Amino acid sequence: MDDYLEILYKVLLEGSDDYIYINDCSTGLFRYSPTLVKMFALPGEIVKDPLKYWKNIVHPNDWEKFFKANQNIVNNRTEKHLIEFRAKKRDGEYVWLRCRGKLIRNKDKKPLFFAGTINLLGKENKIDPLTQLLNRSEFNIALERNIKNNLVKNMAVIMIDIDEFRQINEIYGRDKGDQILKSLSTVTQSILRQNATLFRLEKDKMGILMKNCKKSDVEQLYLEIQKELLKGNIQNHIRLDIEISAGCSMYPLDGVSAEDLYQYTEYALQSAKEQGKNRLVFFTEEILNEKKGKLDLLCQLRDDMKEGYNGFFLNYQPQIQHKTGKLIGVEVLMRWRNKDGNLVSPMEFIPILEKHGLMYQVGIWLLRTALRETKEWVLKNPDFSISINVSVLQLLDDKFLNDLYMIIEEEDFPPENLIIEMTESYVFKNINLLQKIFNDIRKRKIRVALDDFGTGYSSLYMLKNSPVDIVKIDRAFVKDITNSEFDLHFIRLVVDICHTVSIEVCLEGIEKDEEYEILKNIPLDILQGYYFEKPMSKDKITELYFEK
Ligand code: C2E
Ligand code: CA
Ligand code: CA
Repeated sequence: MDDYLEILYKVLLEGSDDYIYINDCSTGLFRYSPTLVKMFALPGEIVKDPLKYWKNIVHPNDWEKFFKANQNIVNNRTEKHLIEFRAKKRDGEYVWLRCRGKLIRNKDKKPLFFAGTINLLGKENKIDPLTQLLNRSEFNIALERNIKNNLVKNMAVIMIDIDEFRQINEIYGRDKGDQILKSLSTVTQSILRQNATLFRLEKDKMGILMKNCKKSDVEQLYLEIQKELLKGNIQNHIRLDIEISAGCSMYPLDGVSAEDLYQYTEYALQSAKEQGKNRLVFFTEEILNEKKGKLDLLCQLRDDMKEGYNGFFLNYQPQIQHKTGKLIGVEVLMRWRNKDGNLVSPMEFIPILEKHGLMYQVGIWLLRTALRETKEWVLKNPDFSISINVSVLQLLDDKFLNDLYMIIEEEDFPPENLIIEMTESYVFKNINLLQKIFNDIRKRKIRVALDDFGTGYSSLYMLKNSPVDIVKIDRAFVKDITNSEFDLHFIRLVVDICHTVSIEVCLEGIEKDEEYEILKNIPLDILQGYYFEKPMSKDKITELYFEK
């Protein structure tokens, strides 16, 4: 090393708490601070081929990243270097280090030195250990830093999330899930340009900050990631269709504070999920307004729950025995009136309850209320059944079965008159888990119905060992029945198959004369739809069917 460099090096060493390193590009020799040599098992200050020593120092999980970054230095493939990793001290304890460096070139642009600092990060973990990406708090710091930086004229705040990641974890196991996350991060990182940084925010959610870019750049990036995933680069063993949703908000167009931008990007991502997943959605005013509307609904729902379920009530839709044309039971349907007195569809308010963990509580209220309100009917008619919808979140709650049995007992309701309806799409995806629960329920003489059959991943073969008593074919199959041979055949086939394994079949959503005419010769067991009756109040059912 030249003399003046030697002096400079000494000055730097004395004036800094950081460790300093210099790599002479012409010789490949590395020089490390004496304090660094003391702390870690390096052979001396000047080291030739240091990677073989670092191999024993760097944490195995961080080695690949470390190795690649160093190869890039040695091969002069990089101008800048920033890497965080765990390193084992001489006493065996691991510490987090951050290593920064920069390539210094001579007048002819030839690489001279690669030099930089290594500093102790303490125990605080800024890096996600699985993906080696910077974590959520680093994302927030970078977001704020970029906003304050005058050189950042605009920025895309992006979140990416793997669709159905929970299912993937459940079906293929956590290791596979981890592997997919790692691959997604590698794939994405290989596509990102200089102006963008990738972070892991939580579980399967990644964040990207892309500086000085256009919306079309974000679209392009999303398409490229999708393309790479599609290429199957990501899976080595199992062929899985990994799809991703993404949300994006733009600084300063959509917001100027880190908090707003984070929130707006999350809203955009949620909107992508709600619109059917596997897409990129940019934040808009409409998304914000819709979100505000939902938050307002949530507040009202919460208030009403606190006030003795004010605004909540039940409707009952008659179910007809096909063979006799007689009323055989009712389906309980939840209703809720908002503070302006308008009815809100359960399709709108139930997902809000579910999302905020309120559905269990409401479900318990509903169960008790339904049993109280319908008990007189089943006592008058022992063949009469009450069907209650149960959401999968309720069913998967450990308390559910106990609560169900306790309420039946407390209300002194005959269990053989109760049917629990559960949406098919959840059932078949989680069949092993639910099988046990269903068997338990059925042991208590309560029946189980598979709701919305035909809309999920249904396989007729799965009916063979299904622990259910009734299959309810979704009303989508009735809608088109007057001009779709397929739907008619499907219904016939389901009835045939179910009857061979003693499962009853209910068809929902019959509205018109023509539909009934076509269907009446199929040996369905139960019919339900506006053609017979719409959902109605308890008093109306009593008046129409029980006061004759
Ligand atoms: P679902 O369980 O499939 O309930 C049947 C839905 O179809 C009801 O809508 C009913 O009013 C409607 N329907 C019945 N016959 C006809 C017809 O002929 N034509 C048409 N177009 N529709 C018909 P509703 O009450 O709006 O409920 C929608 C969904 O909300 C239900 O679908 C169910 O998934 C959920 N839901 C309702 N009440 C509850 C509840 O108490 N608990 C849970 N977990 N979910 C509920
Ligand atoms: Ca239902
Ligand atoms: Ca249904």
